[in-house]
Amino acid sequence: MGKNLSLNPGQQIANELRAFTDQHRTHQFGHGRAQCGNPNCSRSWLAILKDSRRPMFEGRWGCCTACVGALVNAAIRRESGHDEAPPDQGGHRHRMPLGLILLAQGRITNSELQHALDLQRRAKSGRIGDWLIQECGLTQGDITRALSVQWQCPVLTMEGFNPEAMALAVPRLLTQTLGIVPIRIAGKQILYLAFAYQLDASAAFAMGRMSGLNVQSGLTDPVEWAGARQRLCACDGIEATFESVVDMDSMSRNIESAIAVMQPRASRLVRTHQFYWLRMWLESGAMTNREGGVPVTREDVADRIYVLSSEQ
Ligand SMILES: [Zn+2]
Repeated sequence: MGKNLSLNPGQQIANELRAFTDQHRTHQFGHGRAQCGNPNCSRSWLAILKDSRRPMFEGRWGCCTACVGALVNAAIRRESGHDEAPPDQGGHRHRMPLGLILLAQGRITNSELQHALDLQRRAKSGRIGDWLIQECGLTQGDITRALSVQWQCPVLTMEGFNPEAMALAVPRLLTQTLGIVPIRIAGKQILYLAFAYQLDASAAFAMGRMSGLNVQSGLTDPVEWAGARQRLCACDGIEATFESVVDMDSMSRNIESAIAVMQPRASRLVRTHQFYWLRMWLESGAMTNREGGVPVTREDVADRIYVLSSEQ
């Protein structure tokens, strides 16, 4: 009392509202924060009347559609800027040819290798590993083990593979097109991804960010891998939509409106190869960690997958 007596009542009310807003902007609601995540938010005092637990995008609350849009737009630009994982995660490492690894291991002789390479060159098709199996009596196990040396990764088995649970980790479309096959989660911390002939650093990087888990990629027997992929695709995964959009602005508007309609408790955007994958956790019961995590049921989770029509 007694301050700003020279102001008219309207200005006084506006000032008090502003002070009230400033005090309450960072007030905690549950585990959410009342502070808008958009750095350029106009900080409408109306924001404090809203449920600040939703919508959440990448750990930030958007106080209004425009602020959600600003966060989404920044995320799309960020994702468009990189596709491959950082080099230290296996993006661009020089790899020793498979034949030389088998030669060094004493599995084949130099003349056997030359013979297989000749056949491959003449046929203009086929993997060198398959030619070596056919011509030199190697097993698929020999080839997979040599590939794991080439990629400096473990050989994974299908032990503990639960297709129903793993189908919730990744949209079917990405399993079908990119061959992302999650096998199991160990100790709620490590997500094992299996690949058949080569690792996919971009897929592993995206899966790690989306799940909040440490991803360990490995190679597995191609026949077992194909079987696992088929079983994953046969499961009911998270409900997903797929859309081709003309440009990033159009994708941004689309995601902004999806978030406005769904009001997720958590959501995140990652890109792998040509796919921009938005996941929305609609209720806290669908979340297995603060950022979302791998859902334990199909309920209250939704995926949106976008490609730019110019990149299709
Ligand atoms: Zn805002």
